[in-house]
Amino acid sequence: MLPPGADTVVVRYGDASTKSARVQRRMEDLLVENLRALLADRGVDGDVEQHWTRPLIRTDEVESALDAATDAFGVANASGARSVAPDLDAVVDALAETAAAVYDGGTFAVDASRAGDHDFTSEDVEGAGGAAVWDAVADEFDPEVDLDDPDLTFGVEVREAEAFVYLEKRRGPGGLPLGSQRPLVALVSGGIDSPVAAYLAMKRGSPVVPVYLDLGEYGGPDHRARALTTVGSLERYAPNFDLTTWVVPAGDAVADLVAEMEQGRMLSYRRFMYRVGEAVAERVGADGIVTGEAIGQKSSQTTRNVAVTSRVTDLPIHRPLLTMDKQEITDLAQGIGTYTDSTIPAGCYRIAPDRVETNASLERLLDHEPDDLLDRASEVVADAERVDPLAPADAPGI
Ligand code: ATP
Ligand code: MG
Repeated sequence: MLPPGADTVVVRYGDASTKSARVQRRMEDLLVENLRALLADRGVDGDVEQHWTRPLIRTDEVESALDAATDAFGVANASGARSVAPDLDAVVDALAETAAAVYDGGTFAVDASRAGDHDFTSEDVEGAGGAAVWDAVADEFDPEVDLDDPDLTFGVEVREAEAFVYLEKRRGPGGLPLGSQRPLVALVSGGIDSPVAAYLAMKRGSPVVPVYLDLGEYGGPDHRARALTTVGSLERYAPNFDLTTWVVPAGDAVADLVAEMEQGRMLSYRRFMYRVGEAVAERVGADGIVTGEAIGQKSSQTTRNVAVTSRVTDLPIHRPLLTMDKQEITDLAQGIGTYTDSTIPAGCYRIAPDRVETNASLERLLDHEPDDLLDRASEVVADAERVDPLAPADAPGI
């Protein structure tokens, strides 16, 4: 809900505010740049202004700008607000007008904060503001103040040069501004898990370089389109970042692996995949690999198997979904718009042998693994195609 005359989005960030002033400044620059890109990408008119600790968006399209702001990584929450002069009378008048326009019965509170030099306190705003709200609606309703759990909160934020009146704090994703960490390679399969993992890495500030292993006959053309579409659905959160996807032709290597190896081949396939990630990371200067794995979700993801397969690379493998249940991941995927109905039979199911390994030993794996498997990982990366993600709306039959 917006106050009448709303003309500004007040943006509040979370973890960045715990940093030193110098780092915070840099993060704020990034956030402002990303906010501008999000607005431009969505065709929303608005000027993003940088004010220490509170970026502001001046706009005639407050609702759309608020939507964009609450999709920006690093934003804890944001409010659609009306800007008024930073004096008690102006704030109290705006509260009375807002109450007259939106109050519809029930309990209310005025919650004020203040920063800067003023001849009144935030308690003054809450006292005088509460009384003004009451007076504005008491003829028609039977208003009641409830400071602990009000039905409606009138928010006031008084800054040095202006004050803001708002009615809600809409949550953003939190995290850190995108670009504040170094890039990571994200292994994306087009399933439910990996796009969520990539999103969560982005949420912590790392741009991702998506890598998809095209498994040839073990994958299929729909599989590839699905992967490119899920990457495409991440683009709306990062319009000023490059999500060109590395499509790695892994079909032959995987077919040979399946022909040559029975027990443990799933794990050798994982080792191959991490090495592919590592080879791309070297080329693009990424600091690690992100996957959608969770402890025990599949036989290749038992604690033991993850321990054994991860030793194939010195790069950290980040697993943002590590402790999540499938349902939690699905809920997140639906929330961020990457959920795809994963009924297309995809790679791993077909690569897995009849008897899967849940308790691998590296020595045993190395005994059976094709000698050239890891070399082939860098070879296929040299042959990778760099493909634009598919816009979700353009996806054929998905
Ligand atoms: P997802 O739901 O994301 O497809 P999954 O549940 O199918 O994952 P696995 O197939 O075991 O699980 O894969 C685990 C992780 O390995 C995936 O989350 C992804 O990060 C990576 N991965 C799997 N297949 C591919 C692929 N073809 N290309 C790139 N990465 C892949
Ligand atoms: Mg999975």
